[in-house]
Amino acid sequence: MEKVLLLNAIYEPLRIIPWQRAVTLSVLGKVEVLEEYEREIRSVSLTLRLPSVVRLIRFFFYRPPIVKFSRINVYTRDHFQCQYCGRRYPEDDLSLDHVVPQWMGGRKCWGNIVTCCLKCNRKKGGRTLAQSGMRLVRKPYRPMNILRWSYIAPHQIHPEKWRDYFHYWDPKWSAAEKKILAPIFPRGIL
Ligand SMILES: [Zn+2]
Repeated sequence: MEKVLLLNAIYEPLRIIPWQRAVTLSVLGKVEVLEEYEREIRSVSLTLRLPSVVRLIRFFFYRPPIVKFSRINVYTRDHFQCQYCGRRYPEDDLSLDHVVPQWMGGRKCWGNIVTCCLKCNRKKGGRTLAQSGMRLVRKPYRPMNILRWSYIAPHQIHPEKWRDYFHYWDPKWSAAEKKILAPIFPRGIL
């Protein structure tokens, strides 16, 4: 059955809801329908296309769910890309690397673990970045929006029309981007 992507008022993907819920929210005037499926539903007096993406009219304040620290979630955060050589690999050819090695007190957490190919893992060994002369593609961080991360995971299959909304939203917008976007969004959101 068709799923609907619910966006916050600022176009941030919030959650996936059943189409029945989306239709109810739409009828109540709580959401704006941005995308529709081809499929129609009919009642005696009404025919309507199923919504695919809806956006809340009023901003919904919420605390983003914490993304669990796990091997697959680290790979997902890093787009299955070795954070040293920058190449992408299938899951089986990747491992996790402590940026600050364990023997130096480096912890197993979002801020110190990166995706690493087997070759780079051997090359770096138990050394620091300075000692190995290696550089990170991206500084490791804790992902904030679980829906965004689950979307880019390769085992997730979602409608094509949703793609733009995930790419559009980026919690790490730069100051310059925020300035451009500010007039579009309510004051204080960005
Ligand atoms: Zn590598």
